[in-house]
Amino acid sequence: KKRVYLLSEGNKDMKMVLGGKGANLCEMTKLTLPVPPAFIITTETCLEYFEEGTGDLPAALDYEFALKAIEEDTGKKFGDPLNPLLVSVRSGAPASMPGMMDTVLNLGLNDEIVEGIIKTTGNERFAYDTYRRFLNMYSDVVMDLDKEPFEEVITSIKKRKGIKLDLEMEAADWKEVVGEFKKLNPNVPSDPREQLRGAILAVFRSWNNDRAIRYRSYNNIPDEWGTAVSVQAMAYGNMNDGCGTGVAFSRNPSTGENKFFGEFLPNAAGEDVVAGIRTPQPLEEMATKWPGVYEELYKYQEQLEKYYCDMQDIEFTVENGRLYMLQCRNGKRTAKAAVKIAVDMVKEGALTEAEALLRIPANQMDFFLHPTLDPTAQKTKIGVGLPASPGAATGKIVFTPDDAEVMANMGEEVILVRKETTPEDIHGMKSAEGVLTALGGMTSHAAVVARGMGKCCVSGCTAAEVNAKNKVLKLGDVELKEHDVITIDGSTGEVYLGTVERRSAAEDEDFQTVLGWADKMRKLKVLTNADTPDQAAQARKLGAQGIGLCRSEHMFFEPERISSMRAMIVAEGKGERLQHLETLSVFQREDISGILKEMDGLPVTVRLLDPPLHEFLPHSPDEMQSLADTLGKPFSVVKDRVKQLKEVNPMLGFRGCRLSVVYPEITEMQARAVARAAAANKKAGLDPKPEIMVPVVSSAKELRLIVPRIVAAVKEELDKAGVDVKIPIGTMLELPRACETADQIVGTDDVDFISFGTNDLTQTVWGFSRDDAIRFIGRYQEQGLLDFDPFARIDEEGVGGLINMAIEKARTKQPETKVGICGEHGGEPNSVQYFHSSKFDYVSCSPFRVPIARISAGQAAA
Ligand code: ADP
Ligand code: MG
Ligand code: MG
Repeated sequence: KKRVYLLSEGNKDMKMVLGGKGANLCEMTKLTLPVPPAFIITTETCLEYFEEGTGDLPAALDYEFALKAIEEDTGKKFGDPLNPLLVSVRSGAPASMPGMMDTVLNLGLNDEIVEGIIKTTGNERFAYDTYRRFLNMYSDVVMDLDKEPFEEVITSIKKRKGIKLDLEMEAADWKEVVGEFKKLNPNVPSDPREQLRGAILAVFRSWNNDRAIRYRSYNNIPDEWGTAVSVQAMAYGNMNDGCGTGVAFSRNPSTGENKFFGEFLPNAAGEDVVAGIRTPQPLEEMATKWPGVYEELYKYQEQLEKYYCDMQDIEFTVENGRLYMLQCRNGKRTAKAAVKIAVDMVKEGALTEAEALLRIPANQMDFFLHPTLDPTAQKTKIGVGLPASPGAATGKIVFTPDDAEVMANMGEEVILVRKETTPEDIHGMKSAEGVLTALGGMTSHAAVVARGMGKCCVSGCTAAEVNAKNKVLKLGDVELKEHDVITIDGSTGEVYLGTVERRSAAEDEDFQTVLGWADKMRKLKVLTNADTPDQAAQARKLGAQGIGLCRSEHMFFEPERISSMRAMIVAEGKGERLQHLETLSVFQREDISGILKEMDGLPVTVRLLDPPLHEFLPHSPDEMQSLADTLGKPFSVVKDRVKQLKEVNPMLGFRGCRLSVVYPEITEMQARAVARAAAANKKAGLDPKPEIMVPVVSSAKELRLIVPRIVAAVKEELDKAGVDVKIPIGTMLELPRACETADQIVGTDDVDFISFGTNDLTQTVWGFSRDDAIRFIGRYQEQGLLDFDPFARIDEEGVGGLINMAIEKARTKQPETKVGICGEHGGEPNSVQYFHSSKFDYVSCSPFRVPIARISAGQAAA
């Protein structure tokens, strides 16, 4: 088995074996870019390490030959004091997990070798700076010592000398630091080969550190992959002012603008940029400082982007005027940049529309629906930082990731404020609406991670004094305490006091172009779930092709209407009930007519009353008394009715079509209201297309009872009005029994369509109560019993299996039957993919998910 590869032996398609970083290092070498020589230990060897469980390297792993190859290539020798080879030991998984795992730099140093470096280079400062970096990283990464005492050493020397920057530290200072570090940790092995063994083991172990595990679960990266380890000759960015290090993007990862973009730090090592220790300089300055190097880098980024056909994220180091490429990968980008880059690359002829569409992260597209700051709004600016990740957010400030998570779980919108973020902050960033940091550049951890999450972020707001201990943020004269409200604008870097008005970016031209591609390609129609004319209008603007679910009961929860509803429910006898139903019918007709108007010419599926009746009734004695007073009935009548309707398990109780069975007059009223609304709109010259849908059906027999009543009521109303409107009738499949007997259901006279109610269907197939499952679903996910929440993403195996069987039965019996879905899943990208492949006619989702569903449906068909 081959466990070790030289860069000349791999290529970009070997990510599973060599990790993304390793595979791309091989590819850059093939393209003859200047990459320091390296060898790569395979991901499989990492798995072997975990399997063997000895805590030592797999016995069969041998990298001596590869180390020798690097020595020959560089003309240096590992462990040789007079001409030492130093290496970096880098992690690299098949999928990008930036900063989640460990890397050790400058490995191969000891007291003797440092002296050798001083002798041969004459650069004492460089030698001790490099040594202290190594001791620090090795102690942290390999030996798991606390970082703080090490930082403390440097801070106290700086304080004593009255300096702030690493650059101001002199050779003697770094030498002193090295001495102190060795006191803090006297146990760093001095044998370079022993160091190498330790570092490789540490990188293997880092595959299973907490933050890597958490990152994988957020990003659906399998735990079984393992990390590769790259061992690479060091390029030194920290020798003198002719050296430096930087990060570059072939296009702007925040806005998508097609302009080479990046940052560099002179006289520094790679980890300094990412850690945000000093604020880096824009690449333009490198063009002035080192024009030759800049030009070369410019050429490579162009070449790499063309080659990979995607925006590239590049790490580089300059050693004495020589450029070294240390990493390239397809760059993470914001939702906005993803859309702009896709559109531009189609214009440039680099991608087809279908290829470009597939690059769009559909689930991040809600960025375009979420607001940006209204430029005309009143606002008080209190600070400005870097526009690290666009979008705007308002929230209460919190100072720790845990506080962010706790507050968010209570439904609060928060802004996470940090001096700088580290991978330990991820869960807090995920919970926050936005992130504000005092330190760090455009490529700092906070910026990169926020962009990946599609979260707005302002980084490098250097005027901000963040005191996490006392939970105070000072910006100039303004002092803010925990839970004070601020607004941040990640597109401009500005920070405002309090709430600022925002507006949507849905009009964005590039976004509309992408939607246009999706619409051309998709087979699925995208409808919406909307209950009011306002929602209908909004959804139509976002591209909804009709309403797949209009919950008629929502109209009765309005304050003036609920009293009529309650009166109808506590009515004593049919006569009294009919009287109140007449009032309700007027409301219902008005609302439906308004919705039909907004959706004129498009289908509007009105679902009959679904919830258990007791949901409409008051439950406290005071409220019951006041209802009794309004209705002029004795308290006992109301109380008895409430008691009578109370259910132990209402979700499986007296609801849906069961109400129609017991109170046909309610269904009849609703059918009449729909017909009247349609008739009125038709007479007004419009083109109403209502449909009526019966919920919670479990057998065709129920439909045989209910549907004829609907047909009769509709016919009577339309005849009375003297207009002709076709009103299709359908039913929801949301119970397993209905799915099992879908053939009988679609075989029922006058049943024209079926729509899967996947919320209830998930609930009834799993036997998970929708309202109670929160208590354990998280634990199920943590323990690997669920890969995702089946209420958010369709469970293809179980629920999906049943759906496919039902569709097959239905289509065999009635090939014409229209098939739709109207649960939350209708706007979830993976689920939409599934509905496409199961040949649904339409999905219906909430208005704000409509564009996401359009793109997902386009991607499914592309
Ligand atoms: P990550 O996956 O966290 O980015 P990397 O393996 O890329 O970790 O290394 C972290 C930093 O160390 C990077 O900034 C990189 O530029 C720098 N680095 C890694 N290997 C070398 C090397 N051989 N010479 C110089 N710098 C290096
Ligand atoms: Mg890197
Ligand atoms: Mg339902």
